[in-house]
Amino acid sequence: MNPYQDYVEGLELAYKKAESYTVTGAHPVEPSTEPSVESRASKLLLFSPHPDDECITGLFALRAMQELDVEVINVPVTFGSDRASRERRLDELERACAYLGWSNHVARSDLSDLDVEDIAETLCVFQPSVIVYPHKLDGHRTHEAVHALVEGALGQMPENFECLLIETEFWRAMENPNLMLEGDSATLAELIAALSLHHGEVSRNPYHLSLPAWMLDNTRRGTELIGGKGAQASTCHFTTLYHVSQWVSQEKSNLLDGGMTISMSDSLASLVTKKESL
Ligand SMILES: [Zn+2]
Repeated sequence: MNPYQDYVEGLELAYKKAESYTVTGAHPVEPSTEPSVESRASKLLLFSPHPDDECITGLFALRAMQELDVEVINVPVTFGSDRASRERRLDELERACAYLGWSNHVARSDLSDLDVEDIAETLCVFQPSVIVYPHKLDGHRTHEAVHALVEGALGQMPENFECLLIETEFWRAMENPNLMLEGDSATLAELIAALSLHHGEVSRNPYHLSLPAWMLDNTRRGTELIGGKGAQASTCHFTTLYHVSQWVSQEKSNLLDGGMTISMSDSLASLVTKKESL
């Protein structure tokens, strides 16, 4: 018998089994809507185009919280185009963020889309040391609009504002990722569980269950693009690809010489030391 049939059947079986899994959403902390402005912890702001993107591309934020003691604050830039479902999506988002130990900053109480002034004000209020947002050509109108809004807001910041910039990909792969970040099974399971709390979205399309497949494929791509063509395959299985740069003296500039792979046995601190002010 072809042994790979076992492999494929095992994947299929695991997927079918996971279709019946649920988590309560009560773990590990109660939902909180507002982060503390006064907190002295270093802050990471996730500018999420939709509720659910924070989990899909959230590996960097989750590892930063666990390894660097960074406070993670999600900033939903839109609640989707369907006005009737915005309240439901807010509720799901709060549960997902609470599950991961993140707070959620809703800048407009009517849940309408944020503009460049809202984002600049959010940056001023929280003074983040890291921001996370989609890359310029992420293949979805809202994701690409969020990229432009965030970079427009950075351009309005005072000259002394500095932060690390982490660009994400999902709907269209970026051409030039420079960070391949590994998540182990426990970390990935946390992201999937939080993503599953977006009930309305994943009941339509269970993309929480395909997240491991996406992250396996990221490793295939990242090994060539970051490790170099023909590089020995990484020992990582599940990874997310990012582009890392920095905002200094009112412009975006390179932080890394070439690319970097950070496995679970490496620390994110190896990246952060490159940006002293983090
Ligand atoms: Zn999205």
